[in-house]
Amino acid sequence: MKNVQFILIFLALIIGCNTNPKIEPEQDSVETNIPCDKTGLTLQILGSGGPAAGDARASTGYLVWFNGHPVVMIDAGGGTYLRLQQAGVHIRDIKFLGISHFHPDHASELPALLWSDIFSSRPAPLNVSGPTGEGSDGLTGFLEAVNDMATPVDAFTRINAIEVTPHKDSITTVYKDELLELTAIGVNHANKPSLAYKVTIDNKSIAFGADQTLDSPGFVDFVKGADLLVLHLAISEEADKPFTNLHAKPSKVGAVAQESGVPRVVFSHLMKLDSAHARAREFSLSDINSNLKLVKDSFKGTIILAEDLACIAL
Ligand SMILES: [Zn+2]
Ligand SMILES: [Zn+2]
Repeated sequence: MKNVQFILIFLALIIGCNTNPKIEPEQDSVETNIPCDKTGLTLQILGSGGPAAGDARASTGYLVWFNGHPVVMIDAGGGTYLRLQQAGVHIRDIKFLGISHFHPDHASELPALLWSDIFSSRPAPLNVSGPTGEGSDGLTGFLEAVNDMATPVDAFTRINAIEVTPHKDSITTVYKDELLELTAIGVNHANKPSLAYKVTIDNKSIAFGADQTLDSPGFVDFVKGADLLVLHLAISEEADKPFTNLHAKPSKVGAVAQESGVPRVVFSHLMKLDSAHARAREFSLSDINSNLKLVKDSFKGTIILAEDLACIAL
């Protein structure tokens, strides 16, 4: 009898712990890739969520692997500190950390990661890029605040900070060496200086659309030719201001995905509010299948729905 009770408690614990059941989208072209095979060029999702805590997703973060080495991290939203460890990676092993913009769901783990790096034996400075902007809207101001927090240790000592002016009609080469090229373009995200990035390694590239309304003049040309594109599907078709000043609706996301010509697109920054919230229906996870259908009305390529820690091989 005791054994039966034990098994029942054990089962209850397992069921109770399963707080992040995988979404089962109705779309036949949805692709997810767990577990990861990190050979060649691979994108791993560190955080597939946005600012609202829900659905057990970390806020935004992405990791680019090449031949088993973590090379570039894009964004460091809440939860990515832990997801990075779950991916088996220490910040000291990453060559480049690109921040798209300084909203907390993209940058709040930056202090924790830099603080953690103080205790590592880093072989070379960590390259950190972000947009120029007033105060903590820009990389310099944000890092100054981090440094104040980190006193008496100088958090700058092992950072190569690269500020990028978010021009919306011209592309900036942020970084280039024998392995990696990183370019960026400014995008519209209310009044927040924001960057979309493109990572090119071994003649293949991954573009990261970042938070934006997808109406920036140079964005589509910037991502054309990429092998994989990450677009943010934060809001639903019935969303209104202020959310529509920050993000694009699913129909627009689908149209831009198609216009880009990129064959495979990852949809991320998925958001779920408490269902009792008056504006819950304005966010993508309130009805992900309907929102993906709207994307699919325009986009005829492969849809990949982001999941934390999932990998997409190129
Ligand atoms: Zn965001
Ligand atoms: Zn944002």
